[in-house]
Amino acid sequence: MKTCPNCKGEVDEKALVCPFCGTLLQNHMEITRSLSDTDFEEVIARFGTAHFSRMNLILQVRGASKTYVFDAETITELILGRLDPDTGESPEVDLQDCGAVEKGVSRRHAAVVKRDNSLHLVDRGSPNGTYLNGQRLIANQPRVLRDGDEVRLGHLVLVVSFEKLSPLGIDRL
Ligand SMILES: [Zn+2]
Repeated sequence: MKTCPNCKGEVDEKALVCPFCGTLLQNHMEITRSLSDTDFEEVIARFGTAHFSRMNLILQVRGASKTYVFDAETITELILGRLDPDTGESPEVDLQDCGAVEKGVSRRHAAVVKRDNSLHLVDRGSPNGTYLNGQRLIANQPRVLRDGDEVRLGHLVLVVSFEKLSPLGIDRL
């Protein structure tokens, strides 16, 4: 077991996301503690610190072979929606090719935002609504996103998961 740095909840050693408050649980501190100072400095010198806590947010469209992968650390705001035919602009998660129009997805339907080191889902006032595990979100009220969540935009369903990369993140580059 380890302790969530945010809510101090006892969580599983391998948990990527705190089941109580949704905080991303990164391993940076643990690695720091488990290595001697000398070892740690050596590792930093060789690889830099950025690779220690890498985790991916994965959004998988149900019923389509489409998957969106984002480095959770770098997310500030991801817009979920579809191509805007007027401006030609695509949001970060462009669901155009997944039947977005027929399924009632707005151009800027919802967003994933980072707050206090947790990822939250926010509805952007979409007419057809954003649902988190079957519950409709109130527009512009962020809700914590957790591993295994189901997000529905109109009639389009996305399954959320978090994937931890190897400590050095090299095998995936
Ligand atoms: Zn927590």
